[in-house]
Amino acid sequence: MSRAQRPTWEQSEALDDRLGEPDTLRFPEDWTLSESWQRAQTERDRGGPINEAERMVYLEESDGPHRVTFALTGQTLRAECGCASGVYRGWCAHLASCWWRWVRGRLEVHHLDTGRIYRTPPAWLRLDDTDAPEVDGLTAAELDAYLTCDLGGVGVREYASESGRSPGTVGNLLRRAREKQGGRQ
Ligand SMILES: [Zn+2]
Repeated sequence: MSRAQRPTWEQSEALDDRLGEPDTLRFPEDWTLSESWQRAQTERDRGGPINEAERMVYLEESDGPHRVTFALTGQTLRAECGCASGVYRGWCAHLASCWWRWVRGRLEVHHLDTGRIYRTPPAWLRLDDTDAPEVDGLTAAELDAYLTCDLGGVGVREYASESGRSPGTVGNLLRRAREKQGGRQ
């Protein structure tokens, strides 16, 4: 059942647009009709974070809590759950619940390589890591600058002031990251 379509001034309405699958995010077909997705939207989670990579998800209708991995690495999201109901390319209700909250800014997701915390899915995210370029070999600072500026479209000056680095330093990080990325295919 979809939620009642009522006008609201809550900020989450704007974020709802992001469920329309930006081209870097590809969920399985019929995903929005799946039980996982329905449960994610309706059931409250009594769990919480365990560490930077893992959380406990305890949905209202579940018999018990499920330990999931939900963290960014490289250009992708590691979303893993040990439950047996991962029909939609592994997207069970527990992972779907995390995604549902993340899109609405209600979940903090750590990037394991850069240490940055993302409160909503970043623009550069690829869910299918088979078509995401390799980014290992970059330092944490190079990767963060590369993801944020080159892939995320944030300006060098804006990123420099936000990260407390000089624009020249950011420029150097980006140059080194591009050189390393340029050597790949
Ligand atoms: Zn699960």
